[in-house]
Amino acid sequence: GKYTIDDLAAWFADPKHHLKMLSYNALIFFNMKQTQEEKDAVMAKLDQIIEDCNKLGCKMIVVVPSMDLTVPATLDEIKADAVAVLKEMVKKCEPHGIRLSLEFCGEPSMTINRFEDAYAIVEEVNSPYVGVTLDQYHFYAMGSGWDTLEKADGKKIFVWHLNGTEDMPCGAYYNNDEKRMWPDAEGDCLPHARYADTLKKIGFDGDCCTIEIFRPEYYELSQEENVRKSAEVTRAHVAKYAQF
Ligand code: ZN
Repeated sequence: GKYTIDDLAAWFADPKHHLKMLSYNALIFFNMKQTQEEKDAVMAKLDQIIEDCNKLGCKMIVVVPSMDLTVPATLDEIKADAVAVLKEMVKKCEPHGIRLSLEFCGEPSMTINRFEDAYAIVEEVNSPYVGVTLDQYHFYAMGSGWDTLEKADGKKIFVWHLNGTEDMPCGAYYNNDEKRMWPDAEGDCLPHARYADTLKKIGFDGDCCTIEIFRPEYYELSQEENVRKSAEVTRAHVAKYAQF
């Protein structure tokens, strides 16, 4: 509550600062709403985020699926609903040049929890304004299919979330965001060369990868230490694997 969106907008507008916003993270739980009131609330939230993005010079909004459904929805029902909602959202975003990036989350109770499902939805929406966020941890955690990623159009992957993780059974309750770690840290199991090479091969041109880790022990570092360390490991990662 110390700073406002307008303060942040002024910071980004200051030419002394070289940081730019890649994406607004995130509009959460956008899909499978059961009542008109809930659906309207998602669209109202989107309106507010677009307003903030316009102030901040941000051209992308990450959207996160709903979880813990009380209705036993099939994947077909979930996909049809997501396609319909995203098409509505695009109508609001496109006039502002803002893109939407669907982030599947590799967690059993999430409605869209594998790359192949998110990609199928994005393909069906079929808009240059709608793509997928590929988070390496999420891809690994529910065993997303490399075969789908290898055949995907890299131009439809808008955001690449970089991280490593401990090796845990697929779907285990303790296989969660807290197990993320710096890429290539001791105990990291992710095949970083495979992610980078595949993205390169399929024509990913997001132009950057962004680190995203929620490891409790890293929260004990100061903000400054965390930012420096993140920049350092991201730079090293790009130099080693991701020279596009
Ligand atoms: Zn992510």
